[in-house]
Amino acid sequence: MERVKERIENLRNGKNVLILAHNYQRPEVQEIADFVGDSFELARTAAETDAEIIVFCGVDFMAETAAILNPNKKVLIPDPGAICPMAQLLFPDDLKKEKKKNPDAEVLLYVNTLADCKALADCVCTSSNASVMVEAMDSETIIFGPDHNLSRYLEKQTSKQIITVPEYGLCPTHHQILDDDLLTMKIKHPEAGVVVHPECVIEVQDMADHVTSTSGMIEYCKEAKEEEFLIGTEVGHLHRLKSECKGKRFYPISETAVCPQMKMHSLKKLERVLELEKPVVVVQKDVAEKARRAIERMLSLS
Ligand code: SF4
Repeated sequence: MERVKERIENLRNGKNVLILAHNYQRPEVQEIADFVGDSFELARTAAETDAEIIVFCGVDFMAETAAILNPNKKVLIPDPGAICPMAQLLFPDDLKKEKKKNPDAEVLLYVNTLADCKALADCVCTSSNASVMVEAMDSETIIFGPDHNLSRYLEKQTSKQIITVPEYGLCPTHHQILDDDLLTMKIKHPEAGVVVHPECVIEVQDMADHVTSTSGMIEYCKEAKEEEFLIGTEVGHLHRLKSECKGKRFYPISETAVCPQMKMHSLKKLERVLELEKPVVVVQKDVAEKARRAIERMLSLS
């Protein structure tokens, strides 16, 4: 592994490159990245960079978002097979039909959607700013998709009427985290705080002390009085929690909450993408222009 790391260092030193990694990436990928964060932080960092090349260690919709924000830069993805199954659940026709039924509603989409859906949205949001974005919309009725659990969280947290499309969208990784798992872990760690992601099922959200995004978890756990925490999200995030909240202890509510797509990137693939400068993430120009408006609206309101 040391030789691969050395090769990556040599390759990145010869190029104006920014390596971004999501909080769910493998520890060794997080450690070599220039910046590690949640979807919102990665989008903002991608929007602000001067680098000519962005290597995105995350899933397809995240790399697409970076490409949409940087039409004149090269956005590379180490493994193009890193496809988020949740983002695949929403189709442009679903949105068009719902918009026809509710002409006064605005379309606010979770960032976990593909560019052709974002092109039809008034705005996008991430789990870290979803409630703020819902309240910032002009309309009292919001068409939201694709995650039903985040949608139910928004129904509780905001004053707006939320119409969710498609009928049932979810993250298969967060659906591994069950209320029974949490009950078992609470018995083992009765003093632990419980922090979960809004993609978890509502029963798990209702049992938590705090529901927030991955980066929100870091802020919360740093400040909270508890010394140990039960964490309801993809297990890769425990690496960052442990390194940023020194002295505190973290346990996954479910060890099976692993996103295979996020784990597709490796140091070897990172080395290869830096060497070949491909595969490049491409978004059709007219789609990218429309989607950019929705993404930039989120960035300006956050
Ligand atoms: S954790 Fe869930 S939402 Fe995130 S990339 Fe994996 S499948 Fe998609």
